[in-house]
Amino acid sequence: MTADPFADLLAANAAYAETFEHSDFDGIAHAGVAIVTCMDSRIVPLSMLGLEHGDAKIFRNPGGRITPQALEALVLGVHLLGVDRILVVPHTRCAMASATEDELHRRVSESAGMDASWQPFHVVPDQLAALADDVHKVRSHPLIAGRAAVGGFLYDVDTGRLGRHV
Ligand SMILES: [Zn+2]
Repeated sequence: MTADPFADLLAANAAYAETFEHSDFDGIAHAGVAIVTCMDSRIVPLSMLGLEHGDAKIFRNPGGRITPQALEALVLGVHLLGVDRILVVPHTRCAMASATEDELHRRVSESAGMDASWQPFHVVPDQLAALADDVHKVRSHPLIAGRAAVGGFLYDVDTGRLGRHV
């Protein structure tokens, strides 16, 4: 029998639960913040903004894009969860912005040992243009417009700095 691949994580969770202090916490974004950012492991959304447990709603996907699901999350955030500031945060050296879809298909096909060309990857040919489009999608959404400040930022994974672009 192989070892449980989740054993270390469950042990860490048991220790976490020992001192868990948030049992009566609500699901409101206490700092009024929602962040849409990339799944990249170099990004630690709460820490990079000086936020803590309970302060923000966080939605992540490859590239930090405003997808229909991201808008769904933001509408819920704005109307039901206290969100009045929305940050859209792609980042430097993002695989989604530095590779072509063909390249990603080739690399994933190699890794999988099978054809992966049927799997879409929404690569971003121009990251700042995509950011401007994404911010526009949020700002012009009828259920969000005028109800939350929306900003587009690029996170530099080498310096930890956020630059405002939109
Ligand atoms: Zn990324």
